[in-house]
Amino acid sequence: MSASAAQCRAPGCQREARRNRMCWPHRYRWVRYGAYEGGEWSTADEFDIALAVECRRMPDGVTRLERKRIGLQLSERGLSLAEVARITRVTPRTVCRWRSARRRARGVS
Ligand SMILES: [Zn+2]
Repeated sequence: MSASAAQCRAPGCQREARRNRMCWPHRYRWVRYGAYEGGEWSTADEFDIALAVECRRMPDGVTRLERKRIGLQLSERGLSLAEVARITRVTPRTVCRWRSARRRARGVS
C-alpha cells in the first residue's frame, strides 16, 4: 500500500519503520525512555543542544531528552511558549509541561 518501506532510523537497525521513522520496538523504547537503547541515545548531546538553542532550529534525530532540554533552554532565554513549541515542534502544552516539571524539580511552587 505505501509507496516505500522506510528503514528504522535507529543506528544499525534493519527493521521497517512504522511511525516517526522507527520500528515498533525502537519507537516503544523511544517513547518510554527517550532513547533507542542504553548507549549514546540515552544521553543528550550538549553540543547539539547548544547549537539548536543558538540557531533556534532542531537538528535531525534529536532524542526526547534533547528536545526537552532545548525547549527549556529556549524558555530560559525568554522565548514565548508558542515560539518554543514551534522551534521544538511540539505543542505549547508540552512546553508547559516541561516548564512546570522543572519548577517542581527546583522546589518553586
Ligand atoms: Zn528499529
